[in-house]
Amino acid sequence: MITRSSALLQRPETPGADVTPLTLQSAWQNQLSRAIRDPRELCRRLGLDDTWLPGAEGGHALFEVRVPEAFLARMRPGDPHDPLLRQVLPLSAEGESVPGYVADPLEEAAHTPGPGLIHKYAGRVLLIASPACAVNCRYCFRRHFPYDANSPSRAQWEGSLDTLRSDPSIREAILSGGDPLAASDRQLAWLVERLEAIPHLERLRLHTRLPVVIPDRVDDVLLDWLGNTRLQKVMVLHINHAQEIDQAVVEACARLKAAGVTLLNQ
Ligand code: SF4
Repeated sequence: MITRSSALLQRPETPGADVTPLTLQSAWQNQLSRAIRDPRELCRRLGLDDTWLPGAEGGHALFEVRVPEAFLARMRPGDPHDPLLRQVLPLSAEGESVPGYVADPLEEAAHTPGPGLIHKYAGRVLLIASPACAVNCRYCFRRHFPYDANSPSRAQWEGSLDTLRSDPSIREAILSGGDPLAASDRQLAWLVERLEAIPHLERLRLHTRLPVVIPDRVDDVLLDWLGNTRLQKVMVLHINHAQEIDQAVVEACARLKAAGVTLLNQ
């Protein structure tokens, strides 16, 4: 199984790689590194009875559990049907074979002109800016995505960016993943600096759950590079239920808006 963790270990120089020593980590990186990755621990913390454990452990073997504490804190203890928990709790049904199931439902493999690049629609290109996520959602359509082949080094990024440089019809760059904001600000600023040097690019779009699952991700360092790019900035959050929105999420969204970011939700 290719996991986001293994992709990170294999490519320490990728934008998604967190090679910052523990003592130098920012608050959000610290929370990311302490996320729950044990299905037994997830069930224990929420007071779920043992009937949920076999499914949780079976699903975890297929796609690992990852739940940051800030997201866990919004779940109702003792409620196996909590809408936030249901997004992250593996169930035994994940191991069932279903006719017609495919590992690449968006047929992205057929639209990958270079490592880390998906070009499926006219006028826009998607960049896999990080193979990692802050939360692993059970419904993820990229759970089988070949991150090991799409975690470019900086030198490989230059080759992929040539695709954008040579096509003036491309007006929008979409940072995706994984979760693009799981990458360090240093790496993201490096990538965005190259994007904004492409004269025909007008818009930068980020698809991310990080401002929701770890609101501390929206810190001054992020707002500095994001707020100062010449590109129009659009951030598409991924909020599935009203209970995900607590005061910290509201404040993170307000900070993004104040930095000139247009916020959307999918
Ligand atoms: S954050 Fe997005 S990419 Fe990551 S597991 Fe969830 S849905 Fe998939």
